[in-house]
Amino acid sequence: MDIFKLIEAAERGERLGRGEIARLLTDGEAGAREALFAAAYRVKAAEVGRKVFLRGIVEFSNLCSKDCFYCGIRRSRPGLERFRMEPGEILAAARWADENGYGSLVLQSGEVESEEFTAFVEDLLRGIKEISGGRLGVTLSLGEQGAETYRRWFDAGGDRYLLRIETSDPELYRRLHPSDHRFDRRRGCLELLRRGGWQVGTGMMIGLPGQSVESLAADVLFLRDADVDMVGMGPYIPHRETPLGAKSGEEDRAARRRRLELGLRMIALTRLTLRDVNIAAATALQALDPAGRELGLAAGANIIMPNITPTRYRDAYQLYDGKPCLDENAADCRDCLQRRVEDLGETIGFGERGDSPRFRRRRLS
Ligand code: SF4
Repeated sequence: MDIFKLIEAAERGERLGRGEIARLLTDGEAGAREALFAAAYRVKAAEVGRKVFLRGIVEFSNLCSKDCFYCGIRRSRPGLERFRMEPGEILAAARWADENGYGSLVLQSGEVESEEFTAFVEDLLRGIKEISGGRLGVTLSLGEQGAETYRRWFDAGGDRYLLRIETSDPELYRRLHPSDHRFDRRRGCLELLRRGGWQVGTGMMIGLPGQSVESLAADVLFLRDADVDMVGMGPYIPHRETPLGAKSGEEDRAARRRRLELGLRMIALTRLTLRDVNIAAATALQALDPAGRELGLAAGANIIMPNITPTRYRDAYQLYDGKPCLDENAADCRDCLQRRVEDLGETIGFGERGDSPRFRRRRLS
């Protein structure tokens, strides 16, 4: 099929197959990428509107029990100073988010499964709900946990849970993780979260070593079939002090541009395929291009996650090299973001939670 006809079919909501998605991820015909992004933007405007919602992210601890081969805070990375913020500091960040019109907060840390950690997060959730009068939506991004832990956190006020599957290809997953990290458990956790009433989000790394375009196309279909409410995915950026990053060596500009392009096309194809979900313009896009998040919004994303972690902790929470805004405080970040979003002709939904329309419909049905 002619590539432009294929883009029109996708915009109308026709189901694309894996081969068609793979073609749209790479097609170099003149005007095709612009047509793809424009179609995805129209679908975004129609399905979720031209308003950007903010999730202030607090990376409150870099303690992690796992050892993913690509991650800068993996358990066995030597010499990294480990921290966990005090509850008072986390609540102060939540109060700042609420007072500055961020409708939602994301609490993210390394993965820890213990009664002490479960109770720590439970108390935080209750505290955040109390200081914001229940206004702030809270997303947790705390990895794989048991059903009982998810239930306790939901009951304490958690609204959304982001658990990135990283790749939908079990074989590639196996190559990226030690043998005791199980793809099936991760996928099972997504199912537990769905059954537990959470708004569920997942996502992938894009441009991993050994990841084919067909595999990325399968990722889009995985997101569709998992019927998620939110998507958080971004380009893979190597961290030199990890086993995977050390193998990657120095990257040239062309490799980074290619990965940015693939990241943007994945956003566009996810928007065309899933339509009414929330899609984040990941910070990793900005690490590849100073305007990366705006490019993500123009390709179909509608969520931005500004970092509101106190700056003194940020050096020790670098999941990948070259993470942007390490020394920008939350207030600088808010002003800079507002300018950038308004330059695009979009507005920020200050004070709004911005739940995904898909989740709202699901709740009503
Ligand atoms: S990706 Fe997550 S689970 Fe894996 S090592 Fe990093 S913080 Fe831990």
